[in-house]
Amino acid sequence: MLDRYMTACRNAQPTIATVNPGPRAIAPGTALRYDTKMATNPLRPDLDPFVLARTLSGSLLIDGKLCSAASGKTFPVVAPATMDTVASAALGEADDVDRAVSAAAAAQPGWARIAARQRGKLIAECGRRLGEHAEELGRLVALETGKALRTESRVEASVLADVFLFYGGLGSELKGETVPFNPDMLTMTLREPLGVVGAIIPWNVPMMLMALKIAPALVAGNAVVVKSAEEAPMAVLRVCQIMNQVLPPGVFNIVSGFGPECGAPLVAHPKVAKITFTGSVETGKAVSRNAADKLIPVTLELGGKSPMIVMPDADLDRAIAGAVTGMRFTRQGQSCTAASRIFVHASLHDAFLRGMKAKVDAMKMGDPLDEATDIGAIISKAQYDKVSRYIALGSETPGAVAHRCSALPADPRLKQGLFVQPVLFSGLTNRHRVAREEIFGPVTCLIPWSDQDDVIGQANDSDYGLAATVWTRDIGTALNAARRLQAGFVQVNQNIVVQPGLSYGGTKQSGLGKEASLEAMIEHFTHKKTVIVNLGP
Ligand code: ADP
Repeated sequence: MLDRYMTACRNAQPTIATVNPGPRAIAPGTALRYDTKMATNPLRPDLDPFVLARTLSGSLLIDGKLCSAASGKTFPVVAPATMDTVASAALGEADDVDRAVSAAAAAQPGWARIAARQRGKLIAECGRRLGEHAEELGRLVALETGKALRTESRVEASVLADVFLFYGGLGSELKGETVPFNPDMLTMTLREPLGVVGAIIPWNVPMMLMALKIAPALVAGNAVVVKSAEEAPMAVLRVCQIMNQVLPPGVFNIVSGFGPECGAPLVAHPKVAKITFTGSVETGKAVSRNAADKLIPVTLELGGKSPMIVMPDADLDRAIAGAVTGMRFTRQGQSCTAASRIFVHASLHDAFLRGMKAKVDAMKMGDPLDEATDIGAIISKAQYDKVSRYIALGSETPGAVAHRCSALPADPRLKQGLFVQPVLFSGLTNRHRVAREEIFGPVTCLIPWSDQDDVIGQANDSDYGLAATVWTRDIGTALNAARRLQAGFVQVNQNIVVQPGLSYGGTKQSGLGKEASLEAMIEHFTHKKTVIVNLGP
């Protein structure tokens, strides 16, 4: 069985050479400026993200093959650091979603019949190959998202493989139980795949967030259709293409397009048995309502307004460094877990502010593809405007000070780019909109406190409950705060990102369900079937 599958996979290998060159796939009238204003590597054209983005232009990947949208339409992919159109993405709509879901539905039973450990091995092999392509994927995602290559995009690409290797080893954990129901009956449970999983992903860490969905879904025996984010469709398409060199055709399909025209039909498709979504709260709720019409399960990873509590005994330097990484300034603050509310004990507040400002000032904003760059560009004009509005709102508040850090790039090639100076606000309370609403930009509030019960109350006084951190040298203080904080992911004296093996997911408005762990695979991508065998005569 496996041999047959492997032969089918080899025969179906789409290679980059088979892709139609971009310009032919681009709709007439689309203004394209493929000028390489940003840094490229002339010695390694295979790593040139401009070439790769052009080569992948105009394609969806359905049933193991790159293809155009049924309408032939495309939409521009814009590099936020220069605002140049660097590629075009296929504009997927309901017809394309239907083709992708039908391919997945046809492939899924055969995929599920492969022994679970063997499926895992194929997923691990995908991870190995993605690891070999990490540099290329890092450059591509840096180009389309504006995230700096050295500090963010290369990191995302290099940890991607780990997610597939982790889940690839978990095939044999898809176990059921025996139940002591009746001595004359053998009663057991089986864990079975759900069928076709629809995965809707955002643009901030597109490859990694996709991996957290598709790796467990596939190992559990489901087939998947991914709807990529309109702002970042290229790197995930390349990931899909690389994985389709290993997987049977139809098991992993990807469509690009806009939410209402492409995401909504995926949720509504009668053959989609599960939706896993990462994105904003409002869209997550709409997705959940639409999924409820079909009564299918939904996993939602939504927003956050994550508190960081600095206790009076904290190691100041370590906490400041943690605030800078925790706020994900290297990702322009575009992270659900960004430490966007920093509660610093009043005795440390001024020193903390000075130290944090100095550290962020030392970060270099610039061309995402330049190795010297720490901070890149904001993803889109809409997001840039939203972030700017919040900065203006905070700045106009009496008593508040917006401490602007770092410097906008001086490079004239980047003058149209969507760069925003990181802002540390002092003088805003936890009740202010800047401290309550998710900005998804490089903006954080430093809020002084003096009473421990009160600061835990303030930290919990939020619609969100995704992540939190506590900074202290006292284990009792740490554990007490960790127990009382309303969040799905609490860290003490560090602020690292999601790790394979650790359940990740929020409470309250931050979502439903967990990702990244064994439980996430079993609980969210299988259903439990009870089987009773009567042993009587
Ligand atoms: P953002 O505002 O950060 O772009 P969204 O939550 O709107 O976040 O988008 C996350 C993902 O959800 C994207 O892939 C987007 O295209 C998709 N999406 C948007 N609207 C819908 C919808 N009505 N149904 C399904 N998917 C949608």
